[in-house]
Amino acid sequence: MYAKELIPDGTRVIEYTGEQITKKEAERREAQRLARGRKGGDDCVYIFDLNQRYDLDGRTRKNVARLINHSCAPNCRADNINGHIWIVARREIPEGEELTFDYGFAFKEWRQHRCRCGSKRCAGFIVNGDQRWRLKKIPRAERARALGAVH
Ligand SMILES: [Zn+2]
Repeated sequence: MYAKELIPDGTRVIEYTGEQITKKEAERREAQRLARGRKGGDDCVYIFDLNQRYDLDGRTRKNVARLINHSCAPNCRADNINGHIWIVARREIPEGEELTFDYGFAFKEWRQHRCRCGSKRCAGFIVNGDQRWRLKKIPRAERARALGAVH
């Protein structure tokens, strides 16, 4: 997804919409997602933490924001504003630039999410920015094995 015009820093670019589901339902769907992935199907994650009770499942065609890719050096962030997830510009974005945000996956799942964002600072796996440094503590051989094991 690309910027059609210059987007000023701090702009709410698009709302990440979807179905509000319980944490328990989110767990069930996560298991389904992994099973789909094992069969070679769509195993992308579209579930967001909304609050302590509910998650948001954005896996619907109506949610155009689901098409925004992850980057290890993103130009947007996902903000929870009064229970709504907004994709917000974290700097000025010139016309034509691809929109990206940090998917923010937990470090413990690092093996599951290979990153190919192509940024100079790409960590190789999609792990949220605050925990990404922990990848460097993992032995190179183990990371290489993980790269062979995930798609
Ligand atoms: Zn990356």
